[in-house]
Amino acid sequence: MTKVLHGLPEKVIFCKKCCISNQRPSTKREFSKKTTEDTETVGFGEDGICDTCKWFEFKKSINWQEREKQLEALCNKFRRNDGTYDVIVPSSGGKDSFYVAHQLKYKYGMNPLTVTWAPHQYTDIGWQNFQSMIDAGFDNILVTPNGKVHRVLTRLAFENLVNPFQPFIIGQKNVAPRAALQYGVQLIMYGENQAEAHNKFDENLSPLMDISHFCKKEDEDLYFGGVHINELKNYGIDDKEMFLYKPLKEEDIKQAGIEVHFYSYYKNWSPQENYYYAMEHSGFVSNPDGRSEGTYTKFASLDDKIDGQHYYTMYIKFGQGRAMNDVNRDIRDGFITREEGIELINKYDGEFPVKYFKEVLEYMGISEERYWEVIDNARSPHLWEKVNGEWKLRHKVN
Ligand SMILES: [Zn+2]
Repeated sequence: MTKVLHGLPEKVIFCKKCCISNQRPSTKREFSKKTTEDTETVGFGEDGICDTCKWFEFKKSINWQEREKQLEALCNKFRRNDGTYDVIVPSSGGKDSFYVAHQLKYKYGMNPLTVTWAPHQYTDIGWQNFQSMIDAGFDNILVTPNGKVHRVLTRLAFENLVNPFQPFIIGQKNVAPRAALQYGVQLIMYGENQAEAHNKFDENLSPLMDISHFCKKEDEDLYFGGVHINELKNYGIDDKEMFLYKPLKEEDIKQAGIEVHFYSYYKNWSPQENYYYAMEHSGFVSNPDGRSEGTYTKFASLDDKIDGQHYYTMYIKFGQGRAMNDVNRDIRDGFITREEGIELINKYDGEFPVKYFKEVLEYMGISEERYWEVIDNARSPHLWEKVNGEWKLRHKVN
């Protein structure tokens, strides 16, 4: 029997419609993750088709005019005319959050406050797009975590969970509800439902985000970077320095009457359309290198120098990298065929993100040797084999 890491299914299956495999994790809350074994993967039907493709099929039957009416009613319910903010839009300055904030303000007459959880390290293009968003007519609060703490948490998340992006994900989930409490705003509008990014089918049927994504469950033990919160002091982190990372209290959110919605419930969500929208209505620019490392696209996840590592570590753990991610989306949106997708995956998936590698290592405070030790230990034997001294994936989509 081959050894299987990360709690993945031993038998690898690729979707017959897109190219995703059953090794792809679904989005999860991160607060209680102790090890990489704690993985839930995307669902597959008996017919060999993934749940995400099924959701995209279902989407075709949605009456979007009806949904727009629901959005108008929602805005009417929360709109304020006293000059205070009436909706919070968590925004990176990327195309998707820009689209949401811009539509809410200029099409639906809302008064949004955009709230940003800072990337680990801004890229030039990320900073430029962030400024362009503000210049297009938005107030913004930029929350930047303590650099000393964030670096340590990033290193721990990389070494223990092979997920250097975890501290960002946690902070980003908390930042909007915390601002809503602070500013007395009752509506939060996220962009895409995580369900579209491979959660349970049923979660798409509601416009509301499950608040357990940023609230603590009763008797829950908190782990950050795979380390129990009480143990973080051994890494030089004081409990008081963890405020921004700790989940919120469910009763506070409920008492304040805060509702968290997804814009993708109300609008037929398309990252490519959002890109054109952002270019038209702001100075949004795409990757000046022509494409991002590891893929063929140029307009997604451009803000953070660690973005490339986020996708590369997924490629190592699950055999699916950045190109695979983009291909699946583009097949479902009808922009490319499955055959074209396979070609793009063969060409770009797993390309090492070299551009900011040195800076990322320096940021985490680890050597290149240590980096490769963590990476190679994360290669599950059921996915990887060494052929003539080189790592190869055992299963390729075809
Ligand atoms: Zn699929």
